[in-house]
Amino acid sequence: MPAGYTGKDSFAGGGYALPSDGGRVVFSSSGGLTRDSGSKVAVREPLFASWASSLAESLFATLFPSDCRLCGAPLVKISRLPVCEECLSAMRPMAGGVCSVCGERLVSPHAFSGEDAEPKCGLCRRLDPPFAKAAAYGSYDGGLRELIHLLKYEQVRPAARVLGRMLAEVAAGLALSFGEAEVLLVPVPLHVGKVRRRGFNQSDLIAREALKFKPAGDRLALAPAVMERCRETQSQIGLTRHQRRENMRGAFAVAQPEAIAGREILLVDDVFTTGTTVSECARVLRRAGASKIWVATVARTLKAEAQHAVLETDDALAMAAHG
Ligand SMILES: [Zn+2]
Ligand SMILES: [Zn+2]
Repeated sequence: MPAGYTGKDSFAGGGYALPSDGGRVVFSSSGGLTRDSGSKVAVREPLFASWASSLAESLFATLFPSDCRLCGAPLVKISRLPVCEECLSAMRPMAGGVCSVCGERLVSPHAFSGEDAEPKCGLCRRLDPPFAKAAAYGSYDGGLRELIHLLKYEQVRPAARVLGRMLAEVAAGLALSFGEAEVLLVPVPLHVGKVRRRGFNQSDLIAREALKFKPAGDRLALAPAVMERCRETQSQIGLTRHQRRENMRGAFAVAQPEAIAGREILLVDDVFTTGTTVSECARVLRRAGASKIWVATVARTLKAEAQHAVLETDDALAMAAHG
């Protein structure tokens, strides 16, 4: 592990551990603490007391933002993130064998049967991805998916810190393979219009939080402006691999080619779904002179390999048909 990175202990000890007594918060039918204190604002109280009480109540509601946004249990600890500790500790790193290149889960035993100590999925064996290695912290489902949605679609910014911690673990693993020189940390850019509507680029926020954990010692340098998204892209859902590539073509451009020439780059995104977005970024960065692209994401969509194989066949046919 690179110097400066304190590993998993810091994750568990970072305020997300369960209470030492192991006690579970029981969801009460009274609707929780906020409503209880509200009912105390009785009509008999003088105006000032009532005002003070409602002030205290709104302060309390600010510090204890009602219930966990994922499971609904009342929150018992002061936190800027409205997610309970049980939900947070349930977000575990991915288990089992994954493709050493793209991070896809490998379920077929013959994927491991080769002499190669680094197993590859069918897709990576046939097509050479433009990145050296892509790794993710967890599977894009359950609580982790909901936490990412809290950040992206409900603007719960404190979620970026937890997601950044997870990303730091991924980056620390990739850093073992980094070259000697400083590596540029590049968040996948959003189109300027989308940033304006959302208020932020989630990948940028997560990358900045991850950097605070020094996952590669001092060898990572944030470089958020080297690449830009020239246009907004359509949803990738339901498209074949070839159509997804077409959809992404020309979506990214390198704004500072002099900054990336000959450099290794750690590309960061919140989710690796099909890999089309990071692949397009990696292609554009390499064409502009970057030497090697690493990809770290918080989550990854995992497919069963059997299903994967079927999709690959369709994609291969689509690619062949379109040259
Ligand atoms: Zn919860
Ligand atoms: Zn793969």
